[in-house]
Amino acid sequence: MGVNPELFMNASRHHSRHILLVEDSASVASLLTHLLRKSDFAVTVCQSKEETLAVLNNPEAPAFFAAILDLQLHDCRGTEIIDTVLEYRIPSMVLTGDTDPQLRAEISKKNIVNYFSKRSFEEVKYAIEAVARLGRNLNKKALVVDDSKVYRGLIAQVLENQLIECLQAADTDAAFGILTEHPDINLILVDFVLPGMYGDEFTIRLRKKIARKDLVIIAISKATDTEQVARFLKIGANDFIHKPFSFEEFLCRVNMNLDNLDLIHSIMDLAHKDYLSNLANRRYFMEMAQKRISELQQRGQEYALVMMDIDFFKKVNDNWGHKAGDRVIQEVARLLNENTKGSDLVARFGGEEFCLLLANISAAGAWHLSDRIRSAIAAESIAYEREMIQVTVSAGVSCDPNLSLEQMIARADEMLYRAKSAGRNQVHIDQNMPNPV
Ligand code: GH3
Ligand code: MG
Ligand code: MG
Repeated sequence: MGVNPELFMNASRHHSRHILLVEDSASVASLLTHLLRKSDFAVTVCQSKEETLAVLNNPEAPAFFAAILDLQLHDCRGTEIIDTVLEYRIPSMVLTGDTDPQLRAEISKKNIVNYFSKRSFEEVKYAIEAVARLGRNLNKKALVVDDSKVYRGLIAQVLENQLIECLQAADTDAAFGILTEHPDINLILVDFVLPGMYGDEFTIRLRKKIARKDLVIIAISKATDTEQVARFLKIGANDFIHKPFSFEEFLCRVNMNLDNLDLIHSIMDLAHKDYLSNLANRRYFMEMAQKRISELQQRGQEYALVMMDIDFFKKVNDNWGHKAGDRVIQEVARLLNENTKGSDLVARFGGEEFCLLLANISAAGAWHLSDRIRSAIAAESIAYEREMIQVTVSAGVSCDPNLSLEQMIARADEMLYRAKSAGRNQVHIDQNMPNPV
């Protein structure tokens, strides 16, 4: 098969939600279309190879994100349709009612995403879930650590067919080097027997650096020793796969572990974020700010705490309704994100009140940045239904490095109160600086 999976990583495809469905049974096609649409995909159905080629050769056709292929069509059989669609570099899954072991073996040699049976509704649903999984894989990066070049290449190929970017290392030294360069790696497949270090020692060292919520470790080994499996799992591996393994088992385990990782992240998001503004919530801000301040102090860098509150926000609700108020909160949150850096912390403290920790900034810098945000918010017209809503904010800034986090918040609050009393739409700071309005 002359397909280079790297070419699957086509930029336009990344944004596509369009699925090519090759299926000659109208009832199966309609069930799949229904399920795919429920998962927010658009679907183009083709009933034959001829029709598929017509769609693929049509310059107006969308960039397909993936294809789902039935094998038994009136104008082609076996694995022919797989080869046809892969020629167009579209990640493909096979959905077949055929259970012939020889055909399954032939399918598994192709560079497909996976194959599924359409014998039961449950299996069909699993196939649809795999399409969604494929979308989530676009932000996954894997590292295969194995001294056998053949095995490494084989595993990398299977992962790349899942649209997971995959790096390779022949030994643990190379692996640690790659991990330093690519801290965004979230899946490691490690062979148990490695030159220089056993896989379990490697796993222990890895877990000291990277927590379970950030990295899945799957150990692969010929070992049949059950004690070894348990040990691997206890020291921090997420799963264990015995060599030799089937293509299907391998994919099931990788997908299951990546699903868990995504689930952990969505639960963490729910716990840490404010649902309306998508900013950090108060509790998470307090936890993170304390850590960030320690780091900044160690580096001898200055920082500032800003409390910001929307002026006369009650009037927004009174004039345009609560939903309009919600839109305004979201828009202010967007402007806060847009005007701060990744190293700053931005939170919604409650109601229409926001708190910012600005990192590595002087008192004058903090005042100017806060004032820039103030004027950006004042200049924004927020569209809500047919109305254009304008709001202003007042802010208080504290920069005193001798204060604790709680004290800085209280001081910034005092400054905010002064800004409100002085007429709103202005920034006050607890330093000897002119407070221009
Ligand atoms: P000031 O300039 O003094 O800050 O006046 P204000 O009207 O902004 O302040 P006040 O604290 O009197 O009113 C805040 C209002 O914000 C009251 C509350 O109903 C509203 N509010 C709080 N949380 C939300 C929210 O999540 N959505 C909406 N739409 N309104 C909210
Ligand atoms: Mg207010
Ligand atoms: Mg208020």
